[in-house]
Amino acid sequence: MHVKRWAAGAAALLSAGMLANCSQIFASGDADAGGITTAMLVAADGDAANWISHGRTYSEQRFSPLDSVNRENVGQLGLAWYADMDTARGQEATPLVIDGKLYLTTAWSKVKAFDATTGKPLWEFDPKVPGETAVKACCDVVNRGLAAYGDKLFFGTLDGRLIALDRNTGAVAWEKVTVDQSKSYTITGAPRVIDGKVIIGNGGAEFGVRGFVAAYNADTGEQLWKFYTVPEGGDAKDQPAYLKKAAETWNMDVLGANDAIGGGGTVWDSMAYDPELDLLYIGVGNGSPWNRAYRSPAKDGSGGEGDNLYLSSIVAIRPKTGEYVWHYQTTPGETWDFTATQHIMLADMEIDGKPRKVLMQAPKNGFFYVIDRATGQFISAKPYISINWATGVDPKTGRPIENPETRVDRSGKPALVMPGALGGHNWHPMAFSPTEKLVYIPAFEAGMMYAPEAAWKPDTARGFNVGFNLGAGDLPPDGGFRKQVAGTLRGMLLAWDPVAQKARWTVEHPGPWNGGLLATGGGLVFQGTAGSEFNAYDAANGKKLWSFAAQTGVVAPPVTYTVNGEQYVAVLAGWGGAYALSVDGDIIDRKAPVRNISRLLVFKLGGTAKLPAPPALADMPLDPPPSTAPAEVIAVGQVKYGRYCAVCHAPGAVGSTVLPDLRRAGALESAATWGAVVHDGALKDRGMASFAGSLSKDEIEAIRAYVIKRANEDKALEAGKKIARR
Ligand code: CA
Repeated sequence: MHVKRWAAGAAALLSAGMLANCSQIFASGDADAGGITTAMLVAADGDAANWISHGRTYSEQRFSPLDSVNRENVGQLGLAWYADMDTARGQEATPLVIDGKLYLTTAWSKVKAFDATTGKPLWEFDPKVPGETAVKACCDVVNRGLAAYGDKLFFGTLDGRLIALDRNTGAVAWEKVTVDQSKSYTITGAPRVIDGKVIIGNGGAEFGVRGFVAAYNADTGEQLWKFYTVPEGGDAKDQPAYLKKAAETWNMDVLGANDAIGGGGTVWDSMAYDPELDLLYIGVGNGSPWNRAYRSPAKDGSGGEGDNLYLSSIVAIRPKTGEYVWHYQTTPGETWDFTATQHIMLADMEIDGKPRKVLMQAPKNGFFYVIDRATGQFISAKPYISINWATGVDPKTGRPIENPETRVDRSGKPALVMPGALGGHNWHPMAFSPTEKLVYIPAFEAGMMYAPEAAWKPDTARGFNVGFNLGAGDLPPDGGFRKQVAGTLRGMLLAWDPVAQKARWTVEHPGPWNGGLLATGGGLVFQGTAGSEFNAYDAANGKKLWSFAAQTGVVAPPVTYTVNGEQYVAVLAGWGGAYALSVDGDIIDRKAPVRNISRLLVFKLGGTAKLPAPPALADMPLDPPPSTAPAEVIAVGQVKYGRYCAVCHAPGAVGSTVLPDLRRAGALESAATWGAVVHDGALKDRGMASFAGSLSKDEIEAIRAYVIKRANEDKALEAGKKIARR
């Protein structure tokens, strides 16, 4: 099987059109024998035994031709081995597997290596990210993976470093700071390596940064080029042509006016590469701040103006030089956190009787796009979930037809927008089956209330800088609104026909934020769920063929590989990420609450390993101090909570599902203890930074009063019920 696949891969590599490029590829600084070479990365599809780059191949299809585990025998799949992680935060990484060794990143940007058959730990590396970096991250202290080239592994750290490790020993080969660490840049995405250049982006568009992607020499760490996604504020004269063109779509008097209006457009996750066209595709994120009326206000004061290129765009660039080639903007004038950083997947298919080289994406905005990847020409787009911000995409211009009622700016009514800021699909990777000709999408529905904030002021020190009032949609104490919101939440695995632009089948999940996907030659689609399962589905019809009780929510995508001809399936389990931080913890199923048990799970046919029993659930009824603060103090606390606390501890202090439930915090009892944490930073090494630069002592105490009030409201709701808690 292995040999045959290699031959097929080589044949594909040498097929028409590729030939011209091959000489370049082999001539341009390939790594030493034994290491990962450019030729191996280009031909990765033929190397079924290994998983050598993030999306398995440069096309990022996440399809493995392996078929030893298949529709007929997947019922015999059992646990081969597992490894506990030393962090209890979100686990989002795709492992790499090279010659019988498995490498992965975990929360806090740590790296671990294992024997891929036995699970024996080989080495581990901790970059020692300072705990207080967590406050710069919108969406948990996660890391999505590694790149391999030569004898090295490359990964980014939450505090913005790019590190090269010796793959055999885990020793540091080189390390570079890639960002201005005085700003809230973070790295959570996996690098890619193209022709000896390590490409890495970053995040931070909730905190005012200006997005870019950069390339580094894999041998030395020398920076080779840097590609900004939005213009530099102020005088635009010295910018490259593509940024001068972009500047015409912004209010340049406001862009860059202070550190909180850097424009955003961070490249925090997806990339893909077509070696034949020699184009690198990057997915560009949301605006910073989100609200366009503040980011790029209209000169007449009526709201926002301009498309604000290259926000929410797919951009094609030359990997050698960082030169701009083309772009397609999915959400012009982005204002809802509608990133186009979601998985970019390349495939060749027949559309209207013609073979097309396409690029596909299901970005946050709810449309599934098929784009010509040579030219950036729009081919088609249809909604893959229920949406209300647009009624369609104009087939001639490729522009969305917007619903004006959802474009909230500085005043007027709030709007419930579908999808919300989490999107209809987030970072969780899709997968493609070339046999079924389907794209599998881990999709979900979760609307959001966008409320204008008339007097929003940027805060360059701490907290979300988005230009909406995230505290405004606060929860009435009767619980009715929360049930209503819970009723709108929906999660599903969609099998999407990209030519017909519709779902061929759908698997409904109990709620959003389910795992990334893997499709295999065995006719299977693997997916972990928020409901603590790891499942295999029939790729043709979605029938569930196998399920494993994972004890924890799973968000990461699985991989598969072989060692000595035996096929394994691996997935890094562990609940976390943006939804897990912000979801109403009380709406989760009480009998089986989602929780984080961070652990690598590895399966094979006939595997007999057993997980230890999960820790017992604590019985923790709400027991807050009485609410005695004046209403006006609580009102101040509510607004400040919405601005500075809600994103990690859930809006309305409803519990989150990963970080401490503040309604149950011991510090709630004491103003002094509360102040020591929030003002003095007593827990900064554990991720809770000081907010002294943004909040006065009185405001911090007002937040305590607000959380006490909320805890008492929920205690009243819970009265008479004994509820098992995490
Ligand atoms: Ca964002």
